[in-house]
Amino acid sequence: MAAAESDREVPSALCTEFLNFSVKDTASKWLQVTDLYKEVYHHLARYVPKIYCLGPNLNPQSEDLLAQMLLQAPLEWYLCGEDPSTGLAKLEQNNQPSQLCGHVFKVGEPTYSCRECAADPTCVLCMQCFLGSVHKEHRYRMTTSGGGGFCDCGDTEAWKKGPYCQKHEPNISDSCHEDPLAHLSTDMIARCYNVFSIVLKYAVDMLTWDKEDELPPGLVPPDRSDTYYCMLFNDEVHTYEQVIYTLQKAVNCTQKEAVSFATTVDRDGRKSVRFGDFAFCELAKSVIVRNTSRQSKPLRVQVMHSSVVAHQCFALKALHWLGHVIGYSDALRRILCQVGLERGPEGENSSLVDTLMLCDSKMWKGARNVYHQLFMSSLLMDLKYKKMFAIQFAKNYRRLQTDFMEDDHERVVSVTSLSVQLFTVPTMARMLITEENLMTTIIRTFVDHLRHRDLQGRFQFERYTAQQAFKFRRVQSLIGDLKYVLISRPTEWSDQLREKFLEGLDTFLELLKCMQGMDPVVRQVGQHIEMEPEWEAAFTLQMKLTHIISMIQEWCATDERVLIEAYKKCLTALTHCHSGFADGEQPITLSMCGHSVDTIRYCVSQEKVSIHLPVSRLLAGLHVLLSKMEVAYRFPEQLPLSELSPPMLIEHPLRCLVLCAQVHAGMWRRNGFSLVNQVVHSVLWLQIYYYHNVKCRVEMFDKDLNMLQAGASMMDPNHFLMIVLSRFELYHIFSSADCRKRYNRETANKDVVQQNNTLTEEMLHLVMMVVGERFEAGIGQVEGCDEIKREILHQLCIRPMAHSELVKALPENENKETGMERVIDCVASFKKPGVTGRGLYELRPECAKQFNLYFHHYSRADQSKAEEAQRKLKRQNGEDTALPPPVLPPFCPLFASLVNILQCDVLLGMLGAVLQWAVEPSAGHWSESMLQRVLHLIGMALLEERQQLENSSEDNDVYFNFTLKMSRPGEAPSNTASVLALLENLQNAPHLEVHKDMIRWLLKTEAGIKTLRERSASTSTVTASGSRGQEETACDKDKAERKRKAEMARLRREKVMAQMSEMQRHFINENKELFQQSLEELDASTSTSLEHSPTSSDAALACVGPRRSRPREKRQVVTCILCQEEQEIRADGKAMVLAAFVQRSTVMSKNRKRPPHDPKRYDPLFMHPDLSFGTHTGSCGHIMHSHCWQRYFEAVQAKEQRRQQRLRVHTSYDVGNGEFLCPLCECLSNTVIPLLPRTKGSSSCEQPGLGQWLKTSGQQIKAMHSAHRKLQPVSTVEETVEEECPAPEVFTVNYIPTNPYSSTIKEMLTTFGTATYKVGLKVHPNEQDPRVPIMCWGSCAYTIQSIERLLVDEKKPLFGSLPCRQDDCLSSLARFGSACWTAACQPTVQGHFIRLVAALIPDPQVEASPCILDVDMLHLLVSVVLSYGSVHSQDSSGLSVDAVQLHLFHLITVAHMVQILLTSGPEEVTMEQESGEAERGEEEGACRLYNTLRTHVGSSLPEVGSGWHLWRCVKTGILPYLRGAALFFHHLNGVPAPPELHALCPGQWEVLCGYLSLPSNLLQLFHSQQELLEPLLHGWCTHPGVQQTLQGGGVLVSFPRESNSLIDLPDDYSVLINQASSFTCPKSGGDKSRAPTLCLVCGSMLCSQSYCCQTELEGEDVGACTAHTFACGAGVGIFLRVRESQVLFLAGKTKGCFYAPPYLDDYGETDQGLRRGNPLHLCHERYRKIQKLWRQHSITEEIGHAQEANQTLVGIDWQHL
Ligand SMILES: [Zn+2]
Ligand SMILES: [Zn+2]
Ligand SMILES: [Zn+2]
Ligand SMILES: [Zn+2]
Ligand SMILES: [Zn+2]
Ligand SMILES: [Zn+2]
Ligand SMILES: [Zn+2]
Repeated sequence: MAAAESDREVPSALCTEFLNFSVKDTASKWLQVTDLYKEVYHHLARYVPKIYCLGPNLNPQSEDLLAQMLLQAPLEWYLCGEDPSTGLAKLEQNNQPSQLCGHVFKVGEPTYSCRECAADPTCVLCMQCFLGSVHKEHRYRMTTSGGGGFCDCGDTEAWKKGPYCQKHEPNISDSCHEDPLAHLSTDMIARCYNVFSIVLKYAVDMLTWDKEDELPPGLVPPDRSDTYYCMLFNDEVHTYEQVIYTLQKAVNCTQKEAVSFATTVDRDGRKSVRFGDFAFCELAKSVIVRNTSRQSKPLRVQVMHSSVVAHQCFALKALHWLGHVIGYSDALRRILCQVGLERGPEGENSSLVDTLMLCDSKMWKGARNVYHQLFMSSLLMDLKYKKMFAIQFAKNYRRLQTDFMEDDHERVVSVTSLSVQLFTVPTMARMLITEENLMTTIIRTFVDHLRHRDLQGRFQFERYTAQQAFKFRRVQSLIGDLKYVLISRPTEWSDQLREKFLEGLDTFLELLKCMQGMDPVVRQVGQHIEMEPEWEAAFTLQMKLTHIISMIQEWCATDERVLIEAYKKCLTALTHCHSGFADGEQPITLSMCGHSVDTIRYCVSQEKVSIHLPVSRLLAGLHVLLSKMEVAYRFPEQLPLSELSPPMLIEHPLRCLVLCAQVHAGMWRRNGFSLVNQVVHSVLWLQIYYYHNVKCRVEMFDKDLNMLQAGASMMDPNHFLMIVLSRFELYHIFSSADCRKRYNRETANKDVVQQNNTLTEEMLHLVMMVVGERFEAGIGQVEGCDEIKREILHQLCIRPMAHSELVKALPENENKETGMERVIDCVASFKKPGVTGRGLYELRPECAKQFNLYFHHYSRADQSKAEEAQRKLKRQNGEDTALPPPVLPPFCPLFASLVNILQCDVLLGMLGAVLQWAVEPSAGHWSESMLQRVLHLIGMALLEERQQLENSSEDNDVYFNFTLKMSRPGEAPSNTASVLALLENLQNAPHLEVHKDMIRWLLKTEAGIKTLRERSASTSTVTASGSRGQEETACDKDKAERKRKAEMARLRREKVMAQMSEMQRHFINENKELFQQSLEELDASTSTSLEHSPTSSDAALACVGPRRSRPREKRQVVTCILCQEEQEIRADGKAMVLAAFVQRSTVMSKNRKRPPHDPKRYDPLFMHPDLSFGTHTGSCGHIMHSHCWQRYFEAVQAKEQRRQQRLRVHTSYDVGNGEFLCPLCECLSNTVIPLLPRTKGSSSCEQPGLGQWLKTSGQQIKAMHSAHRKLQPVSTVEETVEEECPAPEVFTVNYIPTNPYSSTIKEMLTTFGTATYKVGLKVHPNEQDPRVPIMCWGSCAYTIQSIERLLVDEKKPLFGSLPCRQDDCLSSLARFGSACWTAACQPTVQGHFIRLVAALIPDPQVEASPCILDVDMLHLLVSVVLSYGSVHSQDSSGLSVDAVQLHLFHLITVAHMVQILLTSGPEEVTMEQESGEAERGEEEGACRLYNTLRTHVGSSLPEVGSGWHLWRCVKTGILPYLRGAALFFHHLNGVPAPPELHALCPGQWEVLCGYLSLPSNLLQLFHSQQELLEPLLHGWCTHPGVQQTLQGGGVLVSFPRESNSLIDLPDDYSVLINQASSFTCPKSGGDKSRAPTLCLVCGSMLCSQSYCCQTELEGEDVGACTAHTFACGAGVGIFLRVRESQVLFLAGKTKGCFYAPPYLDDYGETDQGLRRGNPLHLCHERYRKIQKLWRQHSITEEIGHAQEANQTLVGIDWQHL
C-alpha cells in the first residue's frame, strides 16, 4: 500500500481487488451469515480505508465511484435480495408518494406565503407548488430562503385554505391510512431493517467518534498504515483573512490554495490542510494554533489518523445513501424512521436519532447538514414518526438548547433550528404542551439562562458586554420557539391543555415578575452616580416578549375558564410584586373642591422609577378581556374584583407616564448639566421613545393607559384626579386657595414655570386619553377593525402616505400583519405613482371629521404636523379652523363610569383655573397649548352630553349634565366666574385669535344642548324642527360671512401679486449684469430659430460641397461662468472652454465578445463596424475661460491634497485622474473642449470633377510619401530608392502654415486631445503620440453616432430636439477635430490621411489596408474630412475644402452602399413586393450594382432577383450613416438645417439627401461615374478579407445596426429570484452564490461580493462585477442585485451607487432589500428610464450626483462587488 499513497490514480492493487470483487457474491454471503453486523463492519473495515482519504489531494470522483461499487452496491443487493436495478424499481412502483411536498429550500430560493391562508408566516410554498396553488390569486408574500426549511404544501395544518397544489392534491382512491409496510414481504422488511440499523449505527458511531487516532471496535483495519491528516475546523471568531494568512504560513501553500481551504472550511466546517506522518501534521497544527491564539481562542485543529477520516467520509456518504434509498419507497422511509427512533440498550434517549441530536454541537458543520437533511426527508415526511420525533425533541429540548448556547455555530446549522418544523404544527404544539409540558420547559430554560439578578430577584443587566450580547441573542431563539408554540390559538380546550397552559402561565409570570420594576432610574440631584445606565438589554427583552405577551392574552381570550384563572394568577403576581407597596412611604391626605382622598407621598422626580411593568400590563390586558368577553358581567362571582385596590393598580403605570411627562418637560436634563446627567437624560429619552414606539407600545404605553382607565373606572373621579395631580407634582398649584391668581404673586424661577406649564399640558392630555381612548374592543363599544381604521386615519391626517410608510406606523401582529388591507379602502383612496416616487394613500374627505388632534399615538411632532395640515384643509374648504373633538363611541359597561371624570368638581376646578389664567395672562405663566387642551376637554364633555341626550328616550336616563356644571360659579375659593362665563369672556380676547373659532364652536354647541334639554323637557317634535330652523339661519349667516371673507382674501391676494411682479421687474433692471447671460441665451435661441425658419426658399440648404449655404457671419460672444466676463470666440482670442467628460463606451457594441485591445499597440485609425469600443464625449455645456478653469482646477487639486493628508476621505471624483466637478452644476467632468470659431467657407471658383480630383490627390499623396521618407532617419530608409516624385507646383510639401490660433487655444487643443487619448486608450498621457488626433476624430464620430441612435430611439427629429449642451458639445467636437492637426506633427496627420484614403483608393505604398467590411464608414468619413486640413494647408491651387469634402463624402457613401449590399443577406420571401413607379430607377440601379458586385465577389454572394429588396436594404441600411453625416457637416460647417428635418414628417429622405448634396437616387453616385469607380469597386471586392468575412471567417455586421437595449426582464420578479437561486458560483464547484448579480447589458449572471470570484485587474483584486464591467461595458456597468432587488451602477473601480429597481409592488413602491415581500412586477417606464441613462452615457454622471448627495456611498469598496 505504500506505493498507493503517492499515486493519485486508482491504485493498481485496488484495481485488482475491484476486478475480483463480486457484488452478488458478497450480498449472497451476507444473506447466509448469522451475525450480519459483524460481517458488514468487517467489510467496511477492509475497504473504506482503501477507498477514502489516501493522500493529500482527495479525488472525490474516483472515491465515489469505488464506494458505489465496493460498498453501496452489495448493501443494495442485500436489501433487495436481487439485482438492485430491478428490486428498487419494484419498490418504486408501490411507492405512495408523500402528500407533503417537502422540497428543501436552497439558499436564495424564492418562497411564498399566503397572507390570507397561511396558519403562520413560517408556512411557505416552493415556487412550483405556489404556481399550482390557489394562493397565487391571493395576497401573497414572497421572500428568499436563508436555506434549510421545506415546502409546506400538503400540510393541512399549515393552511387555512388550499393546502394542496395541483401536483400534491391527494388522490381520492388512495387509501391514505393504509400502512405503507403492507406492500412489503416480511423478508424484505427484515432485510431492510437489518441494513438500515447497521448502516445508521455505523454512521452515528463514526460521526460522533471523538478519538483522533483510534477506531471503534470492529472497524480496525487489517493492515494499518500510519498516515495522518491535519484537520482544520471552522469557528465564528476568526475572519477569512486571518485563516488565509495563517494557512499560508503554516502549511506553505499559495494564497490561492489558502483561499480554497478557507472557503471549504467555511462551507463544510472542516478541511484537511496537510497529509503526512504524525510529526509533519503536528508541526502544522502547532503553527496554526500559535498564530491564532494571540487575540482570541485559537483555531481548532486536530491531527487525525487517515483511517478515522476515511470512515467519517464514508459515514457521510452512507447517510446520503440512506436518504437516496428511502426516496424509492415510503415503506423504506418508515422502516428507517423506526430504526432511528428505536430505543437502544441504554434506555431513555438512547435511540440513534437521540444520539445524533445530543452530539449535534460537537459535530462539524458538514456532518450536521447531512444528518439534518436526512431527518427532514425521513422523520419529518412521515406523519406518524414526525410526532414521535417531536416528542424526543421536546424531551431533549433543555439539553439541546444548553448545548447550543455553548456552541459557536450559527443557528441554521444547529439541530435546535428544527423546532420551527415541529412546533408550528398546531396539533403537534398542543400535544407537546399537554404531554411534554413544552411551554413550561421553554420558559424555564429561558429563565435559567438569564442569571443576573438584583437583590429583589429582578433581572439586572449591568455592563452588558459583547459576549453577553452574543449569548443573549442566542437565548432569544427560545422566545422564537415559544412564539411557534403559541402562534395558533386553540379552538377547543381540554382540561389537560388548560392545566398545562396555566402551569406555563405560572412560569411565565415568574419571568415577568423578574422584569417588573427592573432597570430603575433615579433622577440625580448631585453629581454622583453609582452605575452606568444599561437599558438596552432590558429593553430588548421587553421588545422580544411583546408578541408573546399579546399571544398569551389571545389564548386566554378563547376560553372563559382560562381567562378567569389567568386573571387571578396575574393579580396574585402583581400583589406579590407590590407587597412592599406603601411601606416606608408616608401617607398623606389630599383635598380639593370639597373632596379628599388618602394616598402616599411619592415623587417621581426623587425616587426610583422603572419603565418595565409587564405584570401590571398583562393584568390590564386581561382586565380589558374580561369586559370584551363579558366574563365580568356573566361570572362576577368568580372574579376577585373586590380584592382589587384601584390606587394600587394605577400607581406604577401612572408613575411611568409621569416620568415621560417629566422628561418632556426637561426635568431630567437640568440638574448640574453634568455629562452623567446628559447620558441619563438621553438614555431615558430613548427608552421613552421606544415606550411609545409602534413596536412596543401595544404592551407598554397602551396597557398603562388601559390600567389607568381600569383603575379610574373603579374610583371616585375626584379622587383619581387628585392622585394624578399629586404624581404630576402639580397638586400644590391647583389646590391652593387662590390658584386662579397663582402667578400674580409668584415670582418663581423661569425654568420651573416653564416646567410646570409642560407638566400641566401633559396632565391634561392624560385626562383626555383616559376619557377619550375608547377604540379598543372591550373598553369602548367598537368592532375590532375600528381601532386600525382609526390608526390609519390619523396617520393620513398628517399627510398622504405610501403603503410602506403606513405599514411602518402600524403595529404588526406575530404574523407580521397589520390588518390594514381589510379597512384601508374605507378611509383612504389610492393615487398611483409616476415614473418616480411611489403610490400614495390619501384620506377620504368624509373621514376628516373623525380627526382627533389629541390622538394618543401622535408624538408632539406628529400632532403639530397634523394640526397644520387639517387647519389648512379647512381653510381651503372655506370652513372655520376649529378642530373640535370627534364624536366618540360609548364605553363598555365596565368602563362606563369614566365619563364622570369630565363633569367632576376637580376637573371643573382645573378648567376654570386655566381659563382664568388665559383671561389675565401674565408673561410665561400659562401656555396656549394648555388652553387648547382645556377647550378640547370642554368640547369632549359637551359632545358626551349631547350624545347622551340624543340617544336617550327618557329624560331621566341622562345622568350627565356638564352644561349645568359649567354655568355654575366656581365654589372654591369664593364665588368666582363660571367656566361658561370665562369662555364668553375669552371669545373677544384679542390675544386668542387662533382659538376663536374653537371657542365659538364650544359656545354654539353649548347653546344647542341647552335648547335640546329645554325642548325635550317640554314637547319633543315641534322643538326639534324649530331648533333646526334656528341652526339653519345661523348656518346661512355663517356662509355669507365666509363668502365675504373669501372675496376680501382674493382682492388682497391680487394686490400682492401685482406688487410682486412690479418688484421682480425692478429687480431685473437693477441687476442687469446678473441676468445678462440668460437674456443672451434667450437671444441666441431665438436667433437660431430664425435661422432655421425657411427664409431661403429660393436655394435649398446644403451643408457640404461647393454649393453649401454660407450662413451670415455672426459675432459669437459667451460669458465665463467663473469670472462672469464676456468673451468673443476668436481664433486669436483668449481660449474659452466647455467642461467635458470623456469616457470609453460599449453602448453601441455589436460584439461584446471582442477582447479589449492592447492599449500599447492598438491602432485606432479604423473603427470596425461592430463598434465594440468607442470613446464618448459629453458636456454639461458650461463655458469658462481656459485660465479661469485652470485656476479653479489647481485650487481643487490643492484642496484635495490637503484633505487627503488630514483625513482619509474620498471624493466622488478622482482629481489625480483629471476629474473635477463643473463649478456651476457639479457635473462630473474630466477635461475641457476649446470653443473655436466656425471655419470660413472659401469662395467657390471652378472646382475639379471627381476624375480630376482623384488624379490631383494621387499626385499630392505621392509627393507627401517622398517628403515623409526624407524626414525619416537614414538607417530606416529602405534600399529600394523610388523615383522622386515631383510635387505639383501649387503643392508645397515643406510649407509650414502659420498657426491661426492664440497660445491659450493651442494649449487647450493639446489638453483636450491628450485627455481623449488617455481615457480612450487607457494609457498614460503623451501629447506626442501619433494616435492623439485619431482618438479625437474617433470620439467625434462615435459621439455623433450615439446621438443619432438616441434620437431614433426617442423618436425625435434629427435637428432641433437636442438640448443646447449637446449641440454645443457636438459643434465644439467637430470644430476641434478639424483644428487638432495644428497641434500635432503635420507629417503624422498627413500620414493618417494617406492611410485613410488608401482604404478606398488603392495606394501601393500603403500596406495592410483593411477590407471595406472592416471599416465603419462614418468614422472613416469624419476622420478623413478632419485630417484633410493638414493636406489642404499646403495646397495653394485654389482647390476648395468644400469640393474635397464632397468628393470624399460621395466616395465613402458609395463604399458604404457596397458594404451594405455585400452584407444584405438573402431576401425575405414573404415580403410584399409592391414597387411604386417612383422608385423604379433606384431598384434598377441597385440590381445593377449588386450584379456588378457578384461578378467581382463570385458565388459567396447569393443571387437576389428583387431590386425592390436590394433598394430597401440600401435605403434603410444607409440612413443612420446619412443622418450622422448630416449632423457632422451641420456642426462642422455651421449650415442651418432645413425645417423639414426639425420635425418627424414624411419626405425626410429627399430633404436629407438634398441637405447633403446627394441625389435622392443614391445609386446615381455610382452609375454616373461608373468608369472611374469600377476599378475601385474591383479593388474593394477582391480584398482577401471580403471573401474571408463573407464565408464566415469574421464578424459580419449587417446594416442598419439596431440600437442596443438592456436585456429583457421578466414581468414577475420571482422568476428572477428563481433563476438566481439555481445559479452557482462558476469558480467554487457548484456552490451557491451569495450575491447573484445580473448584468443588465448582456444578461450574464455573476457571483458578486465574494472572495471566490475575485480576480486581478490591473494589479488589484476586484469582485466579479467590476471585472465584468471592464469586458462588457468598458468600465461602466449596470447590474441588478437579485437578492436585494436593487440596481447597481458601477464606473471604474471606485465609483458606484445603488439605484431604484424597475420593479414595483401593487402599491407603486420598490422593495430594496426585499423586506416587504409584496409581489413585484416590472415597471416598463422605469426600466426605459434606466436604459435611457445608459444610452445617453449618463451612468457615470448619475453616480457622481448620487455620491455628492450621499457621502456614505463614497466610502464603499465598489471594486469588491
Ligand atoms: Zn413544494
Ligand atoms: Zn405542492
Ligand atoms: Zn391563500
Ligand atoms: Zn473667466
Ligand atoms: Zn456644468
Ligand atoms: Zn455584461
Ligand atoms: Zn463565486
